[in-house]
Amino acid sequence: MYTPKTRPIIVAGNWKMNLLQEQAQQLMLDIVPEVKQDTMVIVAAPYIYLQSLVEDFGDSVFIAAQNCSDKDSGAYTGEISASMLQAIGVEFCLVGHSERRTIYGETDDQVRWKVDACLRNTINPIFCCGETMEERKSEQHFHVVKDQLEAALFHLNTEQIQQVVIAYEPVWAIGTGVTASAAEAQEMHAFIRSVVQEKFGEEVAQAMIILYGGSVNASNCAELFGQSDVDGGLVGGASLKSDDFKVIMSQATPILS
Ligand code: PEP
Repeated sequence: MYTPKTRPIIVAGNWKMNLLQEQAQQLMLDIVPEVKQDTMVIVAAPYIYLQSLVEDFGDSVFIAAQNCSDKDSGAYTGEISASMLQAIGVEFCLVGHSERRTIYGETDDQVRWKVDACLRNTINPIFCCGETMEERKSEQHFHVVKDQLEAALFHLNTEQIQQVVIAYEPVWAIGTGVTASAAEAQEMHAFIRSVVQEKFGEEVAQAMIILYGGSVNASNCAELFGQSDVDGGLVGGASLKSDDFKVIMSQATPILS
């Protein structure tokens, strides 16, 4: 059985809607040589770059999409299905990122359908959850995050839940430069693990990768990732700067340790 010590530290970058093709290529050429052996670095890139990233760098890093449709095919103009992602070698997909929920109005139901679409197509969903500052100030944060977990993941069976990565991303920390303190992150991660344990049992909970996201940078990553229930990070802004991301990547630990 996994114990917290044997869970690896995983580093995922979320480029969001940034970088022109040449810049994306240059960033990858800068960071890929520094990916440590047997560690897991994930790059979530715009759809348009995914295929070439898989082909050029798929041996060194895992390539993720930032979103997918909840449908597999059909008359859904502008959508990209998880089956299409799978067919070009994409292995992970962000689901329920707060920017999707708040800017594009994604509901808990849609997030759950997208989790299902990923799993149907052997893509690992990186399920994002997290509270707003108002919710934290009114002490609703545990309740809100539990509701998000229940809505998106509680219908899964044991085999399916083991394909999911959870990213705790307090909305107030995303892109703001304000980070949750290491203690706040640890407290919520331990809570999320306890929710997973209550529903799916200890073995699943202990093996569950729970990433922290929200203004992770080169200076705060070591302290955040040093918390016993923080298994790495989902990194936005700092993933666009090769020097910063290399420092963050250096915190990743081998998957088999
Ligand atoms: C994110 O995009 O998931 C994120 C955490 O962004 P940032 O690191 O810029 O806060």
